[in-house]
Amino acid sequence: MTKDYRNKDLISNLAKIIREEASNDNYRFMHVCGTHEDTITKHGLRSILPSNIEVVAGPGCPVCVTHPEKIELALKLLEERKNIILTTFGDMYRVPSKYGRSFSHAKAQGFDVKVVYSISDSIRMAKNNDDKEVVHFAVGFETTAPSTASTLLQDPPENFSIVSAHLIVPPVLDYLLASGEVAVQGLVLPGHVSTIIGSKAYEFLANKYKVPQVVAGFEPLDVIIALKMLLRQVKEGEIKVENEYGRVVKPDGNLKAKRLMNEVFKQEDAKWRGLGEVPKSGLGLKPEFKKFDASVKFDVEPPEIARDIEIGCRCSDVIKGLVKPEECKFFRRVCTPYDPRGPCMVSIEGTCAIAYKYGRLKLKN
Ligand code: SF4
Repeated sequence: MTKDYRNKDLISNLAKIIREEASNDNYRFMHVCGTHEDTITKHGLRSILPSNIEVVAGPGCPVCVTHPEKIELALKLLEERKNIILTTFGDMYRVPSKYGRSFSHAKAQGFDVKVVYSISDSIRMAKNNDDKEVVHFAVGFETTAPSTASTLLQDPPENFSIVSAHLIVPPVLDYLLASGEVAVQGLVLPGHVSTIIGSKAYEFLANKYKVPQVVAGFEPLDVIIALKMLLRQVKEGEIKVENEYGRVVKPDGNLKAKRLMNEVFKQEDAKWRGLGEVPKSGLGLKPEFKKFDASVKFDVEPPEIARDIEIGCRCSDVIKGLVKPEECKFFRRVCTPYDPRGPCMVSIEGTCAIAYKYGRLKLKN
């Protein structure tokens, strides 16, 4: 008997218990993690849940919520300074700021844009090109911010700087719950982010909004267990942060990674694509690290963008869990991973890209 086979039986049994316990009330749970959405969609977990339990995807894809003003800032640097090499991660490369403008379009126009696997690759590039300026587009949640911080603390070359597009998760959950627009009975919390910040980092949300929460791992079994834990909390009127992913996530998280982030970054208000400005949700560089801030170093202001999502694209509603990708009239017709109209179709963690890739699957045999 393989592990997968055993897990399939366990998942089916847990789903049966959930169906029995869910009775006739309606439940809406939100997760905020592209990997969770991938697990849920790939393994068809929604198909084994009762119809009165809805699991929606929130803003869990950092690339999807990177504001186009950050992308335009990097493009402006390329256009204004001829000696710049812009480095970016692969899933950011094709994200449109506006339709027809992205780092891949800039590359096609002859600008020097390079895809890297890590910020260390960008440092190596700076050392090997001392006649050029290397600007690294630093994107991601608390999972990638510690690497950026660690790099800046290790005396990077003078011709290296960053555009910090780092965002952090708890403030956006606070923002969404405060808005009242997104009515959910519980949150499945992201395992990767929680590994860094710890499960305690969400306790203020339980107190403030009386919302049950469970940190979850990424196997289908993890997700089903987390949903069962959430359902139990709701039914028993218990409100707290539970940790299903205790084999990895600790209450205080990774103290070293948090110290690195605190040394280099300060929390500041930041724009999230499709959501607007979210208080204290971005990571800007502290004054002593401003020399590595490309917009300061090259005296370039981020351009203001009135419309952060293209007309017709429903990414803004998709990342709030208000609509499914299939409810967008562009989905599969004119918007595909090969020709994305919106950010949710670009990254492998984007809800639209995941829906496109897997379609509606049943629980795997
Ligand atoms: S399918 Fe495309 S156009 Fe529609 S919401 Fe998703 S990314 Fe936007």
